[in-house]
Amino acid sequence: MPPPSRAAFDAPPLSAEQKRVGLLALDENEVRGCTKCRLCETRTQTVFGDGDADAKIFFIGEGPGENEDLQGRPFVGRAGELLNKMIVAMGLTRQQVYIANIVKCRPPNNRVPAPDEVATCTPYLERQLEIIRPKVIVTLGLPAARYMLQTKESMGRLRGKFQAWRGIKLMPTFHPAYVLRQYTAETRAAVWSDLKQVMAAVKE
Ligand code: URA
Ligand code: SF4
Repeated sequence: MPPPSRAAFDAPPLSAEQKRVGLLALDENEVRGCTKCRLCETRTQTVFGDGDADAKIFFIGEGPGENEDLQGRPFVGRAGELLNKMIVAMGLTRQQVYIANIVKCRPPNNRVPAPDEVATCTPYLERQLEIIRPKVIVTLGLPAARYMLQTKESMGRLRGKFQAWRGIKLMPTFHPAYVLRQYTAETRAAVWSDLKQVMAAVKE
């Protein structure tokens, strides 16, 4: 598997309708029936991602959990409720952003996706990003940040500082499931500070 491309985008951006059609085709023709890795054996269904095909902000989580596997949509459980609140606090609705995961099938017992599963599945995520070409990417949790930035750094070092993915601003922040486990003023303030930076960058 080649390493992810680091080159900035040079093709002209797609129209909103071209993006919508492109995402639908990728989901229906490739992801829905995918059996490229072992996670296909235990999933109920794939979880492609959802939201506005023309979104300015693209959130990337880790992988579907139990609720997502049953409903076929990302972030619909407790972590998703908190993510929805975060999005509303940013003055947006879930329909105005795009949300997807680094793997499209639920890892058994919600374990962290294995490196070979991530390597096999992430070309789909990269194509979603290429189609949408958001203004800002927000990674939720360490696996998404580490994959996108190809780093082994800790969350403590990564979060709160913009980086770039193929010329697009990328903000690593905590996963909402982590925020729920560590529901302290400090954790919540850190996420809010990261999201405020994202809001400012979207307006630039
Ligand atoms: N956690 C994730 O990382 N992704 C989801 O879709 C749900 C929970
Ligand atoms: Fe295919 Fe990704 Fe599901 Fe693996 S996790 S089967 S690569 S869609």
